[in-house]
Amino acid sequence: MSVWLRVSYLQITSNGCLLDHEPAVSIECHFSLTLARLGFPFNRSRLGHGEARAGVDYPRSFGEMQEWFRTDADCLDYLAWLRWPEGFVCPSCGQPGGWALSDGRFECAACHGRSSVTAGTIFDRTRTPLTVWFNACWLFASGKDGISALSLKRTLEMGSVQTAWMILHRFRSVLVRPGRERLTGTVEVDETYIGGEQKGLRGGRARGKKVLTGIAVEILPAPKGIGRCRIAPLPDASATSLRDFLTDHVEPGTHVITDGWRGYPGIESLDYTHEPRNQSAARARGEDPGELLPVVHRIASLVKRWLLGTHQGAVNPAHLPAYLDEFVFRFNRRHSRSRGMVFYRVLELAVDHEPVRYRDVIASSRPRAQPPDPPLTRGHPPSLDRAPANRPWRTRTPHSG
Ligand SMILES: [Zn+2]
Repeated sequence: MSVWLRVSYLQITSNGCLLDHEPAVSIECHFSLTLARLGFPFNRSRLGHGEARAGVDYPRSFGEMQEWFRTDADCLDYLAWLRWPEGFVCPSCGQPGGWALSDGRFECAACHGRSSVTAGTIFDRTRTPLTVWFNACWLFASGKDGISALSLKRTLEMGSVQTAWMILHRFRSVLVRPGRERLTGTVEVDETYIGGEQKGLRGGRARGKKVLTGIAVEILPAPKGIGRCRIAPLPDASATSLRDFLTDHVEPGTHVITDGWRGYPGIESLDYTHEPRNQSAARARGEDPGELLPVVHRIASLVKRWLLGTHQGAVNPAHLPAYLDEFVFRFNRRHSRSRGMVFYRVLELAVDHEPVRYRDVIASSRPRAQPPDPPLTRGHPPSLDRAPANRPWRTRTPHSG
């Protein structure tokens, strides 16, 4: 008598949302197949998230986040809601509609393929509890300066720093939305070296660990001053590299301000209006030639300070692009109404992004004398034991569009 039957208590709202699938009864018997496909028809009307609302669609504070996401099942339900705002859509055949199974997976009504909420996302096959992922996401997204892998490991009492490091890198890898808008209006552009100092090296040789990067920042009329920014590594300071950076990150028709570097002349042919600021002309006017591009230099010093502060300057050049993406993501959301909104945006991108494997992240690193140890133990933070908040994101009434 080893076959078992699990009876689950399901509460289904008018939207077809699964409110609770905690097993209520668990007994041993012969009839496992009878209820193995326990589920319900699942095809919500067009709901969509519309404008995200604080306290409904995303938690307003760390306390509220912990209240909402007390269990892995709460987290899984939130990810399902983010991934399929209009109801389950089969990842295999693309058809909407299906059933929620008792094990938390979904079965497609069309092709009967089964998939989980996390399959095909950055949470694919994770062995780290989702409550740990959610807490890590909050610390990553909500802090002014993010968090280092070592701090994350200590804060969440995780088993290894490698697990913390991978979680942070998986979040970093989702931040650049495909087809995101380019910068417009008036934009300052410059190139600079960014990266950690190598001990024992001085001056030019210290550049061994530095990476040449392009920085572009929107200049807004007062009082706002600074708009969005983009930062990306450049292969070199040639005219071709600078033009590729411009066309990737700055919309044609933009007024582009640069220094007098020989790589920039001719960008008018790419449909930009060009304002080169010449150092000798600035000197002749009695101005500081180092302050020709004040905004872009301010951003450069913020990035460098952030890498030295939060990450102690210990960033491998191979991973620098991911850190630059993180800086840009946080900088461009510095005026967000709520920190919870940024948390929500990261998770929204995370369920829309293909899996990121350990080997994908370390593949770009230089070979090391000693390869990083794989995580040995995986831990999770102790229970916070708070009262349930009844999943407020599920209380939203359907509306058109
Ligand atoms: Zn299907």
